[in-house]
Amino acid sequence: MIDPFGRRISYLRVSVTDRCDLRCVYCMAEDMTFLPKAEILTLEELDRLCGAFIGLGVDRIRLTGGEPLVRKNVLSLVRSLGARIGAGGLHELTLTTNGTQLVRMAGDLHAAGVRRINVSLDTLDPATFAAVTRWGKIEPTLDGIFAAKAAGLAVKINAVAMKGVNEDEFDRMVAWCGEHGFDLCLIETMPLGEITGDRNDQYLPLSTVRSKLRERWTLQETDYTTGGPARYFTVAETGGRIGFITPLTHNFCESCNRVRVTCTGTLYMCLGQDDSADLRGPLRNQDLDREGLQQAILEAISRKPKGHDFVIDRVRNRPAVSRHMSVTGG
Ligand code: SAM
Ligand code: SF4
Repeated sequence: MIDPFGRRISYLRVSVTDRCDLRCVYCMAEDMTFLPKAEILTLEELDRLCGAFIGLGVDRIRLTGGEPLVRKNVLSLVRSLGARIGAGGLHELTLTTNGTQLVRMAGDLHAAGVRRINVSLDTLDPATFAAVTRWGKIEPTLDGIFAAKAAGLAVKINAVAMKGVNEDEFDRMVAWCGEHGFDLCLIETMPLGEITGDRNDQYLPLSTVRSKLRERWTLQETDYTTGGPARYFTVAETGGRIGFITPLTHNFCESCNRVRVTCTGTLYMCLGQDDSADLRGPLRNQDLDREGLQQAILEAISRKPKGHDFVIDRVRNRPAVSRHMSVTGG
């Protein structure tokens, strides 16, 4: 699958649910209305949809959400996708999670073929964690992270950088990740979805964070990449890796190899644009075979835009894109 700008689309992110057991302030409003069940693809439909993408050359799939591990029976999807790793055409199956369910699920994920996961953890401070997630407790996530490590999963910690919230914690997080062998990836807040409060208050440019980190740590440039938008450095003192995702201050679109599908089967060709394609119709259309579904996918890929135009609208304080990250999948 090659898009109009010559980029090979080989990476699919699948949001398996819009629901979550937390309410992170940058991600969701406190009183979210979730989708009715009839609109949500079944796990079997999600598997069939992923199969169609794999048939078109997608070789990496990341399950996300919402919180992917709160979807009932999600392990059956993980297992059926895991069975496609190798000869089935899939190179890698990964997951982004808030970690709350990992204590009971990490072993099963590994057994199904998952080898790397991203866990979102913005802070190591219990009170800040409770404030950012609106009601979460930090212990299940921390226990989950160590359960994942014990199960043999490589863990990358994702932290959203927020002004006045966790900006003084990054030294501690670099040290903690280095100590436990986790990669760390810092993310700028993106203007996605209506939330409570003002995004301008939260926005912290990572260029500032990086300069501050350099006062204590030696950050060595690397050409390491996971195929994503993060720019990685090695922390000389710990040997760990730290990545920076800077959607607002740096354009990462030239090498974009990914598309995203929501749990309702809507395909978004760009995280920062509204154009989409409905794949649930083709999926549920009895008259359409796998090829028909693949035609719908290819038609959508031919509309993949060159890049996003994220900007926090400082005049009207509106998000650039109205859907939440929990809908599109982070
Ligand atoms: N619930 C899972 C989790 O938290 O990892 C998976 C879904 S979550 C939407 C995926 C990632 O998106 C998380 O790392 C989260 O911090 C990030 N995210 C959510 N809203 C964001 C925003 N407005 N700007 C930047 N990152 C955001
Ligand atoms: Fe839930 Fe993840 Fe969004 Fe936090 S970032 S509210 S954990 S979906």
